[in-house]
Amino acid sequence: MYPLNIINVYPETIADGYGLRYAIYLAGCRHACPGCHNPDSWSPTAGEPFTEEIMSRIIDEINADTLLDGVTITGGDPFYNPEALLELLARLKRETRQNIWCYTGFTYEALLKNDVMRDCLYYIDTLVDGPFVKHLYDPALLFRGSRNQRILHLHPKSHTIAQEGGYRP
Ligand code: SF4
Repeated sequence: MYPLNIINVYPETIADGYGLRYAIYLAGCRHACPGCHNPDSWSPTAGEPFTEEIMSRIIDEINADTLLDGVTITGGDPFYNPEALLELLARLKRETRQNIWCYTGFTYEALLKNDVMRDCLYYIDTLVDGPFVKHLYDPALLFRGSRNQRILHLHPKSHTIAQEGGYRP
């Protein structure tokens, strides 16, 4: 596996996307958004190394939980280390077949300009994009903090935006 640190997992959460989800929090973020809810996650050495043993345990836990609606990758910014993210996403999709949400401080359009980041989108069913912008903070928003952030349901391969805003049950 590419070097990557993991901060935490929440095996069953309803806060990180639609339905009951297994959330994985990765270390590392360069965006430094003023008002960030989790600055402790910015360092790529936060948490502990994401070992093969941890990865196998996570996959086993996901596959054992028949109540899950999907998996969410968040942080930090999972795209801090795109090579490691691509490897993680490919394995999660292949070995769990779960619906995958991923949060990022980059915009969707910025991700398309980088080959590895664009390849990551192939495995992501729903992307929550954009930095947190303090003056656009809105506590009424679902699954995101500020009004510039979008919930984008992506079509695999074509990478077109199917729906923007809200969530699709
Ligand atoms: S992208 Fe997210 S984790 Fe990174 S600084 Fe902004 S709010 Fe914090």
